[in-house]
Amino acid sequence: MIAHLDLQRTNKPYEAQMAEALQRVAASGWYVLGKEVATFEENWATYCGTDHCVGTANGLDALTLIFKAFDFEAGSEVIVPANTYIASVLSVTHAGLTPVWVEPDLATYNLDPLLIEKQITKRTKAILAVHLYGKCCDMAPIWDLAKKYNLKVVEDAAQAHGATYQNRKAGNLSDAAAFSFYPTKNLGAIGDAGAITTNHADLAAKLAALRNYGSKIKYHNDYAGINSRLDELQAAVLNVKLTYLDTENQRRRELAARYLAEIKQPELVLPSAETLLQDAWHLFVVRHAKREKLIDFLMHQKVQTTVHYPVPPHKQPAYTAYNHLSFEITEAIHNQVVSLPLSPYLTDAEADHIIASVNASWD
Ligand SMILES: *Cc1c(COP(=O)(O)O)cnc(C)c1O
Repeated sequence: MIAHLDLQRTNKPYEAQMAEALQRVAASGWYVLGKEVATFEENWATYCGTDHCVGTANGLDALTLIFKAFDFEAGSEVIVPANTYIASVLSVTHAGLTPVWVEPDLATYNLDPLLIEKQITKRTKAILAVHLYGKCCDMAPIWDLAKKYNLKVVEDAAQAHGATYQNRKAGNLSDAAAFSFYPTKNLGAIGDAGAITTNHADLAAKLAALRNYGSKIKYHNDYAGINSRLDELQAAVLNVKLTYLDTENQRRRELAARYLAEIKQPELVLPSAETLLQDAWHLFVVRHAKREKLIDFLMHQKVQTTVHYPVPPHKQPAYTAYNHLSFEITEAIHNQVVSLPLSPYLTDAEADHIIASVNASWD
């Protein structure tokens, strides 16, 4: 079986280096907010091109803390994409804010900038741009709207490590960006981990306090913060794996280029190739009206697929207040998407087999 993502295989090349890093931390006697976290924060800011990085325990906390740090009035509105993973929206509601949903552009699956402006009200305070599947949102029109209406822009870059837009990296395209280093992400820890990047020094200092009980000086609390520190062991692993991120993303692009060129199946919609070399290709998502048939056929061919995602956030039981809403484009996407295996350690022979299977006459 070709797994959708084989994490054992993904981490195998770094086994020795990771073991060495973990041992170093174990022997150091300093386990929370130590050297590894400080080094990773510096490395990740440098990689993204931002002035600051603040490590957090996971991606959801990173996003939630950003919204809390802005101190918007309760009930303020945030523009969110209807087509996203639920964590994007949870961060808004956890911060006591109201999500205002906007449909995606079917060509990119990301926020359709043309649909944002009519959702802006007096209560709107921010736009959450999610770079879904590893493709950056079209930021220029979002920046224009932010300027016009005095809004903050926040990136959910949890799927976009190393993706670029106008030669700038994801994480450096907004007031503050959240990353997740969940094991399956392009840069993945061996447990939960996250980070925030920003170019605002005051915001970075506040976020560094908020993730640590709201404290800048031990036992002195400026804010009612939380405990969401990036773990020292995970930071040590991330310092090792970061050095391979560009090479891995390059391999993802190579595989994506093959899929885009070689998959030929009528009525199967491939992702947009327009930004092939800018995208991080976290996932390779295709669309087909008879998705279940494709999934079953591929399973018979020993190719495992996943659906990202089967149920949109506004239709989840977690959000009953929004269940009555309907977003046609978002719901069509959720009914039709399938993610093919795409990982840096997929072999050429495996890619051959996946392509041949998708091209077979299963429809
Ligand atoms: C993974 C992910 C998150 C949440 O990250 P965690 O580290 O799992 O909390 C948020 N948004 C998107 C788009 C994600 O893919």
